[in-house]
Amino acid sequence: MSLVDEFQYGLDAPICLTWELTYACNLSCVHCLSSSGRRDPRELSTVECKALIDEFERMQVFYVNIGGGEPTVRPDFWELVDYATEHHVGVKFSTNGIKITPEVARRLAASDYVDVQISLDGATAEVNDHVRGPGSYATAIRAMRHLSDAGFENFKISVVMTRHNVGQLDAFKAIADRYGAQLRITRLRPSGRGADTWDELHPTAAQQRELYDWLVLHGEGVLTGDSFFHLAGYGDGALPGLNLCGAGRVVCLVDPVGDVYACPFAIHETFLAGNVRAAGFTRVWRESELFTSLRSPQSGGACESCSAFDACRGGCMAAKFFTGLPLDGPDPECVRGHGEPALAGVTSVPKPSLDHSHRRRPVPVTIGMRRPPESACDENPLAGFGR
Ligand code: SF4
Ligand code: SF4
Repeated sequence: MSLVDEFQYGLDAPICLTWELTYACNLSCVHCLSSSGRRDPRELSTVECKALIDEFERMQVFYVNIGGGEPTVRPDFWELVDYATEHHVGVKFSTNGIKITPEVARRLAASDYVDVQISLDGATAEVNDHVRGPGSYATAIRAMRHLSDAGFENFKISVVMTRHNVGQLDAFKAIADRYGAQLRITRLRPSGRGADTWDELHPTAAQQRELYDWLVLHGEGVLTGDSFFHLAGYGDGALPGLNLCGAGRVVCLVDPVGDVYACPFAIHETFLAGNVRAAGFTRVWRESELFTSLRSPQSGGACESCSAFDACRGGCMAAKFFTGLPLDGPDPECVRGHGEPALAGVTSVPKPSLDHSHRRRPVPVTIGMRRPPESACDENPLAGFGR
C-alpha cells in the first residue's frame, strides 16, 4: 500500500502535530498564519500543557512541532520542552531566534530529541525584514551562528516562498550550507495575516514554475513537507514530499487555548474539531465529526477530470478556503491555469475567526517601504517525515 493510500483514511495518532503554545510574539510578520502578536489570556497553563504531553505519550505521538507566536517567550517553554522529551515526545520548535543565546544553543546541541527551526523569509536583510520586520534578519542569522558554533548539526532554516524571495533559492541554500543547517521551504498560504498580503506576496505563475524547476534540480535534501504537491501538474519530474492534503488525517493543530484544528493553516471555526480541555486530545483526534468526515472519501469535483489529479488532488484545502474557492475545485495557484478564472468568480472570502495581531491595520509589504517591527510565526507541517 502506498503512503498516500495508507494516510488518506487517517491514523490512530497524527504524525504531524503542530502545537502553537502561545499567540504572543515579539514580531508581527505580515504573512503570519495565526495572526499572532498578543497572548491569549485563556492560554493552557503549565499543568494543562504537561497533561497534554502525557496524552501524546500515551497515544505514541513521537514528536510535535511547536510554534506560535514565538513559543520561546512563554516563561515555561524550556520546562515544557524538557517535560516532553522526558516523556518520549520529541520536539521541533520554530523560532525567530530571539532567545537563542550561545548558552541556549549549547544546551540544544546537547539534546538528541530537540530540533530547531529558524524562520527566515529573505536571503538578504532587505527582503526578509520587509516581511518579518526590521532587525529580524540579524536576529535569525545570529541564532544560526550560535547554533552552528555550538555544534548543532542539521537544524532547520524555514523559508516561506514569496514573490520577493523565489529568486533567492540558491542563496538560501548557501546560507543553510554555511551554518550546517538543512533548508526547508514552505508555501505561502492565505491564512491569518497571510490573507491580507496574499495578493502582493504569493509567487507569480512564472515563479511557481521556477520554484518547481529548482526543486526538481536541487530539491534533494531540501524539506518541503506537503507544501508543493499542487505543482505536480507540471509533471516534468517527481517532487519529494507528501502528495496529499493531510488535514485531519495525519496533520492537525492544537492552538494555545487547546482548540484542535484540522491543519495549522486552517484556523477557522469551519475546521475546528474540538477542544482538549473539554474532550481530551485523543477523543477529538479519533472521534470528532470533522475529522471523521475529512477521512472519508472526498470528491475532487472539477479536478477529477484533470490528468494531474492523482498527484495534485486539487491542491491545498486551506488555500482554497481562504481565497473563497470551493473545496472540491482547483487550487488558487493551479498550474493548469484554472485558479485565476475561478478566483474571478469569487464574491466573498471567509473572514478569519481569530486575530491576535498587535494592531489591526493594513501592512505595507512593498520592498523599500519602511514599516515598524512585525511577527514571526511559521508553520511546520510534514517536513522531515519520511520512511
Ligand atoms: S489544508 Fe493545505 S496546508 Fe493544510 S494539510 Fe491540507 S494541503 Fe497541507
Ligand atoms: S485542475 Fe485541479 S488537479 Fe489539475 S492541476 Fe489544477 S488544481 Fe491540480
